[in-house]
Amino acid sequence: PPILLWFRRDLRLTDHIALDRAVQTGRPIIPVFIHDEVVETYRAAPTWRLGLGVQHFAQRLASLGSRLILRRGTARLVLEQLVEETGADTVWWTRAYDPPSIERDEAVKSALTGQGLTAGSHPGHVLFEPWSVETKTGGYYKVYTPFWRAVKDRQVPEPLTAPSELRTPDEWPDSDDISAWGMGDAMDRGADVVRPYLTLGEEAAQARMSTFVRDRIDAYDDRRDFPGVDGTSGLSENLTYGEISVRSCWHAGLRAQADGKAGALDWLKELVWRDFAYHLVYHTPHLMTDNWRREWDAFPWNEDEELPEVKAWKQGRTGIRFVDAAMRELYVTGRMHNRSRMVVANYLTKNLMSHWKIGCAWFEDTLVDWDPASNSLGWQWASGAGPDAAPYFRIFNPVTQLEKFDKDRSYATRFLAELSDDPPDTALAFYEAIPKSWPMAPDDNYPEQPIVGPKEGRERALKAYNERDF
Ligand code: FAD
Repeated sequence: PPILLWFRRDLRLTDHIALDRAVQTGRPIIPVFIHDEVVETYRAAPTWRLGLGVQHFAQRLASLGSRLILRRGTARLVLEQLVEETGADTVWWTRAYDPPSIERDEAVKSALTGQGLTAGSHPGHVLFEPWSVETKTGGYYKVYTPFWRAVKDRQVPEPLTAPSELRTPDEWPDSDDISAWGMGDAMDRGADVVRPYLTLGEEAAQARMSTFVRDRIDAYDDRRDFPGVDGTSGLSENLTYGEISVRSCWHAGLRAQADGKAGALDWLKELVWRDFAYHLVYHTPHLMTDNWRREWDAFPWNEDEELPEVKAWKQGRTGIRFVDAAMRELYVTGRMHNRSRMVVANYLTKNLMSHWKIGCAWFEDTLVDWDPASNSLGWQWASGAGPDAAPYFRIFNPVTQLEKFDKDRSYATRFLAELSDDPPDTALAFYEAIPKSWPMAPDDNYPEQPIVGPKEGRERALKAYNERDF
């Protein structure tokens, strides 16, 4: 009987453990993608990007003479139906660690195994299983550096190669047409503007990694903090949809390190931040929904998304150049540099005292590299409410941050049309990318003064912190 291979955020053929095991059985394989209850919860940009990734992956399977069967509905019901239609007795997938996916997968597993089928998950989404990294007392890690120390010397198996062929079933089950799913429908901003910035699919991801390791990893430690410089790998988009395996990245980093590339160690450390995010979301699922440190429940956050200053933050009109350039980068490219993510998150949650959940949800709407664990950790961390956060009273000054990390203003001018009489296309593209419901134009008056200045925001936040006696 055939094996149903259920693909989710693992849209690749290279270094795919479940696929490799399925190929080794010598049995026919039916690859499946389901627009299921978890996918239903994804917001605009991630749904759009996932749809493009699925389409691309379907073509990749087709190039091997295989197919990707597309179905929509509750995962358990769809898989039961497919088992019945195809006579499959085995369903395999790559393990996920975020709470909504775990809930879905447990329901699938117990229903299918209850019917006498083989159903289960294989590793592959992270380097180290979250339960395999334990403190001396058998607990989980709440701080990154000891987590890093615990894993850095572990042996990670070499990545697997892609299969050269997949055995096909005698008969294929029916497949939906992905265009009928409307995965781009909620993307009410200029998808055409964002599209050229995507790195879509496994082949492009691998090419991106090779160029990064060849040309940029050496100076990664010096250049990674400057948003105007192309100093990082840009692989988050591919890692989040599994178009490249983190294990392939890890080994590429190790090889670069062995070749004496100075920046490789720092890059390996960043890959472990991703694992740390999954470690935390697995052990403390409320990382995705509530203040990780419960004492922050008492903080007087603004929770009103409609507040003019929150709108100004989303639209890149706070009058703080670093923040505004970054928010526009997000709109134009679907991504944002890590330094900028820290700056805009700090400004929203500290200077504007708005709840991190507002920013977290906005990123979830707009990022093409949205990742359930890394985004939640990033926001909680930046706001002070999360694990291993900077002390709550550390409030970035976005003006001095710009001076330090974008001295020549190459980043600010690239995305902020108002800073120049002759703005580059990248800056003007923001106005093509915004939804129609935002009546904005490049010649509108850009605030001359920040809506909340760094000093004012800092004092207000510190006062609130002191009153609460955190
Ligand atoms: P590189 O610098 O080349 O790093 C390599 C890889 O390591 C990245 O692709 C990513 O997978 C991982 N990584 C790097 N930094 C981090 C980090 N701080 N936390 C977890 N993993 C990391 N990352 C996402 O992938 N998706 C998100 O939704 C996301 N939201 C964030 C929100 C906030 C508020 C903050 C502060 C950070 C967020 N990050 C998120 C982490 C980080 O900003 C991005 O991973 C990084 O900018 C991606 O660029 P890159 O691929 O060039 O990374």
